[in-house]
Amino acid sequence: MTSDTTQTGGGSIAIRGLRKEFEGGSIAVDGIDLDVASGEFFSLLGPSGCGKTTTLRMLAGFEQPTDGQILIDGTDVAQTPPHKRPVNTVFQSYALFPHMDVWKNVEYGLRWAKDVPKGDRQGKVDAALELVEMTEYAKRRPNQLSGGQQQRIALARALVLEPSVLLLDEPLGALDAKLRHSLRAQLTSLQRRVGITFVFVTHDQEEALEMSDRLAVMSRGKIMQLGAPREIYQFPRSEFVADFLGVANLMDVQVESVGAGVGRVKLGDFTLDAQIPEGFQAGPGRAVIRPESLHLEEGDLSGDNRLPAMVERVVYLGSTSQVFVRLPDGTSVQSLVTNAVHEEPWSSGDACRVRMPAESLHVLEHTEDHAWSDADSVSKAG
Ligand code: ATP
Repeated sequence: MTSDTTQTGGGSIAIRGLRKEFEGGSIAVDGIDLDVASGEFFSLLGPSGCGKTTTLRMLAGFEQPTDGQILIDGTDVAQTPPHKRPVNTVFQSYALFPHMDVWKNVEYGLRWAKDVPKGDRQGKVDAALELVEMTEYAKRRPNQLSGGQQQRIALARALVLEPSVLLLDEPLGALDAKLRHSLRAQLTSLQRRVGITFVFVTHDQEEALEMSDRLAVMSRGKIMQLGAPREIYQFPRSEFVADFLGVANLMDVQVESVGAGVGRVKLGDFTLDAQIPEGFQAGPGRAVIRPESLHLEEGDLSGDNRLPAMVERVVYLGSTSQVFVRLPDGTSVQSLVTNAVHEEPWSSGDACRVRMPAESLHVLEHTEDHAWSDADSVSKAG
């Protein structure tokens, strides 16, 4: 392995009807189908207990599926023990050997790799350390390194074995917020350089949005939505995904006219154009709009997709402010306003009008899963 070569070809994953039921009847993974392309940075995102780690552990071979298939590069790995699979795992706890120096920690795995001649070990370890930019720390012990540096060594130790797929289970979870931010960028750039498939497990939505080529949002052992970060954030299909990923303004609406793409909804007494999912029947529904797409304006109500509102609360966040407003039907929503001037543009008690552009206002599909992740939703809080 050299730091400037890109591996291509291997590392595609196909998961079919994967299920895991633990003794005692706890269903951790409830029949998931998933394809990950070779060289993709793919994330499994979801709240605690949704089945991310169990999925990863079945990929690694540490856990046996109750049902379903896992194919890596087209080969069913059901009978392949963990150490013979073309995958390696990086855990949240670095699990480095405290009595060995960095170089020996990285070399350790190679000692058991029968196909790596002893003479090749030095070059491979050096290349792995270079890849994670830790060459100068080769002689240090783990307790002489920061948390971030230890995680980079754990990465080098996994990469030195040249897996086709690297599985990462909340690898940044033990680090403080600032370090996590800088390591995100390093990890993404590392993945681009080595070109192998990364399957990354996290409950941190920002992390998944920033780093992934595609991601799957999981809840209760099922995949709720799968796609590129922008697609999932902008077009959440369910209330659960809208609410889990970022801040969602959720509103009760009556869907009046449906057609391909834009239809009409009633929010209280006001009629608005909105995106309606295909096949949606006229009747009650839930609509979502992100705070950065909900604009506050002064003046009368002329123009489309506008309705009157009252400012209730303004939360100053430095470069932006969250402005909470109450709509005529009683729903509380928020707008994210960029602070370009010295004074707050809005204060509580102000009358304003809200503009919700039709392309940003989406009616959600009907789903059975209304699990709430946390108290993020403004309409719940309001
Ligand atoms: P977290 O982010 O908290 O690690 P997760 O999404 O990774 O959560 P899993 O660890 O996959 O979730 O767990 C999914 C479900 O399966 C949970 O309800 C958990 O309690 C259950 N579970 C996990 N391992 C076992 C086990 N060995 N025996 C019984 N139940 C288990």
